[in-house]
Amino acid sequence: MLRLRNVDLAYGRIQAVRRASLHVGKGEIVALIGANGAGKTTMLTAVSGLMRPASGSIEFDGRDITRAQADAIVRAGVSHVPEGRLVFGPMTVEDNLLLGSFTRHRLGRRTDVRPELEQVYAMFPRLEERRLQAAGTLSGGEQQMVAIGRALMAKPKMLLLDEPGMGLAPTVTKEIFRYILKLRDALGLTVLLVEQNARAALRIADRGYVLETGRILLQGPAGELLANNDVQRAYLGRD
Ligand code: ATP
Repeated sequence: MLRLRNVDLAYGRIQAVRRASLHVGKGEIVALIGANGAGKTTMLTAVSGLMRPASGSIEFDGRDITRAQADAIVRAGVSHVPEGRLVFGPMTVEDNLLLGSFTRHRLGRRTDVRPELEQVYAMFPRLEERRLQAAGTLSGGEQQMVAIGRALMAKPKMLLLDEPGMGLAPTVTKEIFRYILKLRDALGLTVLLVEQNARAALRIADRGYVLETGRILLQGPAGELLANNDVQRAYLGRD
């Protein structure tokens, strides 16, 4: 479904990612793990068209999207849930969700987004209970649900999730990760998950990639990476 080939990404003279190749099959959950500054977020921004590769190619759903605009990539079926969630605090939960359907409205035409809104509320009943509450007053875990729900409103085939567990208590992280599994199992979504909590990510992932200073160092089935001594020493620590 998604394939990056030999992708180079740079911020001016800073080379953040070097010749990275990665693929995510339809319906797979793939984890991209690595330390701070390894280039994980940079790779996601390249997939969603917010940054252009200096070289290499990106293909999604059989189409070359290497130079496509970000809104076209959303319409092609990729939704990005950014690091730090970026919900609009003063706006209600429901208005935040509705923002996610923005790219589906064509000039002069109204698109019925109620089926998606209902689907989001069925997935996250807590958001329905709080639909008129200002999103900024929600807990961190609930705000993450809003960020994911907003991404679902674009009717994606694939979700890019950037550190969904960031700043959350371990039990809340577990809850969010259970939701990610459910999104794949119930909705058939394909997921590329960036996460510093490597253990939590590899537990729900089918496969994983380890990124170190901009290079893909290791890849394999999630169970193998969890059992790998080097991965354990560098990224897993104690449970
Ligand atoms: P983190 O988990 O801390 O978000 P990451 O693996 O997602 O780390 P990136 O944010 O992709 O890492 O950063 C990769 C490298 O690119 C780092 O060296 C970082 O300093 C650099 N970088 C990121 N964003 C910019 C930017 N806007 N301008 C210049 N350099 C940047």
